[in-house]
Amino acid sequence: MSLNLFTEYTLPPLVSALLFFVLGVFVLRKNKNKALAWSFFLICLATIWWQFCWFILFNVQSAQLASILVRVGYAGIIFISVFLFHFSLILLKDLKVIKTFDKFLLWLAYGLSAVFEFSLFFTNTFVQGYYVYFWGYYPRVGWMHLVYVALTLFLITRIVILLIKAYRKPTTSALQKSQMKYFVVAQIFYNLAAVDFLVNYGVEFYPFAFVFILVFLSITAYIIMTQRFMNVRPVLRNSTVYLSSLIIVLVPALVVKYWLDAVLPSFIYWIDFLAVVAMLSIFPYIRNCVNRFANKYLFSSLYDIKQVVAELSDKLGTTLDTAKIYEVITKILGGALHMKGLSFITISEVKSRYRVPYSHSFTWPKKLAKQPLYDFIFKDFVVKNKILSVDELKAAGSSKAKRLAKDLEKIKLELVVPLIVNDKPIGVMVLGKKESKDSYSHEDLELLRIIGAQTAIALENALLYEETKKFNAKLIKEVDKATHDLKQANQELKTLDHAKSDFISIASHQLRTPLTVIKGYSSMMLEGSFGPMPKPIRNHLRKVYDSNERLIDLVDDLLNISRIESGRLQFNFTSGQLDEMVKGVVEELKPSAAKKGLALKFIKPKTSLPPLKMDKTKLRQVVINLIDNAIKYTEKGWVKVSLRFDGPAIKFCVADSGIGIKDSTMPHLFKKFSRGEKTSIIYTEGSGLGLYVGKMMIEAHNGRIWAESKGEGKGSEFCFEIPISKQQTTNSK
Ligand code: ADP
Repeated sequence: MSLNLFTEYTLPPLVSALLFFVLGVFVLRKNKNKALAWSFFLICLATIWWQFCWFILFNVQSAQLASILVRVGYAGIIFISVFLFHFSLILLKDLKVIKTFDKFLLWLAYGLSAVFEFSLFFTNTFVQGYYVYFWGYYPRVGWMHLVYVALTLFLITRIVILLIKAYRKPTTSALQKSQMKYFVVAQIFYNLAAVDFLVNYGVEFYPFAFVFILVFLSITAYIIMTQRFMNVRPVLRNSTVYLSSLIIVLVPALVVKYWLDAVLPSFIYWIDFLAVVAMLSIFPYIRNCVNRFANKYLFSSLYDIKQVVAELSDKLGTTLDTAKIYEVITKILGGALHMKGLSFITISEVKSRYRVPYSHSFTWPKKLAKQPLYDFIFKDFVVKNKILSVDELKAAGSSKAKRLAKDLEKIKLELVVPLIVNDKPIGVMVLGKKESKDSYSHEDLELLRIIGAQTAIALENALLYEETKKFNAKLIKEVDKATHDLKQANQELKTLDHAKSDFISIASHQLRTPLTVIKGYSSMMLEGSFGPMPKPIRNHLRKVYDSNERLIDLVDDLLNISRIESGRLQFNFTSGQLDEMVKGVVEELKPSAAKKGLALKFIKPKTSLPPLKMDKTKLRQVVINLIDNAIKYTEKGWVKVSLRFDGPAIKFCVADSGIGIKDSTMPHLFKKFSRGEKTSIIYTEGSGLGLYVGKMMIEAHNGRIWAESKGEGKGSEFCFEIPISKQQTTNSK
């Protein structure tokens, strides 16, 4: 035997055997556990067997060897049809088209194949001998071969019927359908290889079945790459890109080289050298182009879900800007899915009001004129958190759905992905067809589901942030306005207060003169300056005089208040002895205390007091008021006045056994016009001004004034203290 390897006749079977080997091993390695991959590998194995045996057969010179090889080669061919059938059954397993009959048929086919194998090796009924053609030996077949051809035809017909049935099922996804379409075409090519049978019957032509099986191989590789057929991952992509680039560079380079060799034979070496340099320099560029082209049109569904999701999380996590979110999603999704357009529709709180805040290469109608369409999308799909695919919609059956599917197709829309946060739809993401026109795969939908959820949360956050920002701005505006209003109101109040003070001041001044005149004349009359007066008239006059005194006090208080509030109260500080002044006042008030049967006592300071800088008139007024109050608000018992020099301050107190002060009254005591609850019953004429004026006076002396009481009916004590060191030295405040 002499082998004449690698002629144009022997090479084709070798090449196809090698390619099938690569594909078979590749699919198997990436899908180790899958029955589908195994059955595909068996098809490849049988094909390799067949092609490799033919490669050897076409090379042998010995008739004896040829008579063995024709049988050994057929041993592989016999199994191809049953393996194809088995593969189809596994492929269609979940689509509910396979009947018990098919299972029976499968076993029968295996059984018959075994019978064929038997007759192949032990009888002459399958292969009878060989023909010698111009390219070499080729098997000559017997009647059993006809049975084999019949079985093959039957199995192929059954495969086609099953595929058509599965294709028509509404439950079959668009991706499965397109896989099936390709698979049917691939099958047809594989079965065209059966023309080689004619050669078995003496028709002489070179058995070019390898052309058809190579087409089958290419289509299978294509569906594996683009349709996620049998889940083969992107490794295949890189090798394909590399190989295609190599062919693109190599073929023209070789053509040019041979042409130049012929035209310029003397420069052969230079031409070779230049060809190599040219190829090397152009290769990376070509590979890039092929890669880009392939990514866009062939491998649009080849991406790594985890990687895409991670990239998206990364980018979405750093922004609260809706525009940026839309951009990021367009870029990342575009990179993975290569869709023709992407758009977002949001739904506002006021239901049924839609907005398209972002649209990327989408022929989206400007005004959302098709309200029913959006209502349909939102009410029927989004709330169910389901991705709406136009394919499914068309298959849904209802005429309304079909009409809407048409509308969606018109605007080239393919998928609608709901954006839902906490069961509340906030909008949808709308995708156009893929650039490659392939359908969206299960994996694509899975990716979109994950991205939809992520996007929804990111958008919701961004929208909330925007809302908060807007609310903040609004709040600032309102606070500004309120502040302005308050300032204005305050100004108005100040003006009013001023007017009131002026009024009181003027009124009091006008009152003071006649009151002084009344006081002067009534006092002179009481003293007898106008002659003796009968006793009853004198008593009445006394009352006039007392009431006039009270009026004068009241007017004085009012005048003081208006002066204090307008800052016009003048103080005249001189040095003096407080104890002397207090003693004088106590003496002065003793008669009125005695009138009520009260004991008014002055407890003198144990140590002599230092001189105090004070406005004597005003401080005297305070002392009088405090002692007078104690007498007024004590029905029986005593009033004790005390003075002492306590550290740096002189402290004055008036204690009584009178009506006491309720806790609730305490905080209001030193306020303007404030009187205790039951006070007015005991003493009707009070104005509630005395303590307020007193407080002002004491504070002008840098001192403080306060009251203490154990409660109603338990007496009270009013005190003030004026520090010696911090005394006011100026004349006014
Ligand atoms: P008036 O005595 O004219 O009402 P004041 O400003 O002097 O005004 O006093 C305010 C209020 O403080 C009084 O109405 C009274 O309720 C309470 N008060 C003042 N001194 C005493 C006291 N010694 N015992 C009980 N209550 C007092």
